[in-house]
Amino acid sequence: MVSLPQSKRLARLRRKMEQGRVEAFLVTHPPNVFYLSGFTGDAGALLVEPSRATLLTDSRFTTQASEELGPSAVGLKIVKGSPAAAAGAELARRRFRGRAGFEGARMTVAEAARLKKGSGGRPRWRATEGWVEALRRVKEPEEIERMRAAARLASEVIVEVLPLVRPGVRECDLGAEIEFRMRKRGASGAAFDTIVASGPRGALPHARATTKAFRANELVVIDMGAILRHYCSDLTRTIYLGRAPSRLRRGYQAVVEAQAAACEVLRPGAPAEAVDLAAREVLRRYGLEKAFIHSTGHGLGLEVHEEPRLGRGQSVPLEASSVVTIEPGVYWEGSGGIRIEDDVLVLPSGGEILTSAPREFLEL
Ligand code: ZN
Ligand code: ZN
Repeated sequence: MVSLPQSKRLARLRRKMEQGRVEAFLVTHPPNVFYLSGFTGDAGALLVEPSRATLLTDSRFTTQASEELGPSAVGLKIVKGSPAAAAGAELARRRFRGRAGFEGARMTVAEAARLKKGSGGRPRWRATEGWVEALRRVKEPEEIERMRAAARLASEVIVEVLPLVRPGVRECDLGAEIEFRMRKRGASGAAFDTIVASGPRGALPHARATTKAFRANELVVIDMGAILRHYCSDLTRTIYLGRAPSRLRRGYQAVVEAQAAACEVLRPGAPAEAVDLAAREVLRRYGLEKAFIHSTGHGLGLEVHEEPRLGRGQSVPLEASSVVTIEPGVYWEGSGGIRIEDDVLVLPSGGEILTSAPREFLEL
């Protein structure tokens, strides 16, 4: 059963455990548990040791867990109460006296206290951060195929709903239509609450769809993504209802060029912040650097925001087979915003754009 992706991933985690000098590692963040075991339930803890791995969950998940773990190298233990605390108790029962790691950034203070109490002070617990997330940065061929399909799905849906972007249609109607169509195409859901932000609301990068109706002569920002076979896509397009004034055409052009410049520097070994700087430099030339109020992009995969972050101060080098978004934008408080976002696979030869929706300025 060594060929299962989970076995290879566990082997990579064990190397990290050796480097981090822990003899046991407790995984509690659900996407990380899924990545290493295949279990999709939301109450589970995976205890990884050098020669075994055990999923602890409660009796609601007995059937689901045994099906999802399948013939993998992960054992199953049904417990009562907090699976993390039960994992601690399990180590104490076995008189484990080594060092054990847990996902410090993924656990509440109360849960960490339960874990330490449950294990009777035996293991020396060490809070770690980002170990499994670092493994998830580099995608396997099967993961890339799924991400390609999720990106294709989002691209097809956004093109399909364009006729609905017209005066009188409400943001929430368009948002609902997008989510409905993604599900009809097999998505298990939206990767995040679909953003439809028209007119002045477009100046809020994370605006959710409201009951506001579209009006003539305003910008509409649509930011949407699907979860397909566990993997996310994330896509943004900006549309103008009417004939755009030259100021906005210029702004759109600036964002298109900023995105292209960022894609240009995207390759293995490039520091993540170089991608961000490239986009910022273009916007600076247009005098729009102050209107760009977020970072250029983020990793994408089982979650919509993952490693690596493409922002200022992120010196981590990019790796081949990472998937990231490139999403520069400009925002004018009180009047609107423009953002273009695509999902890009990092290849030795550069970036391959996975999202295929047209990128030119649509004036409808
Ligand atoms: Zn997005
Ligand atoms: Zn994004």
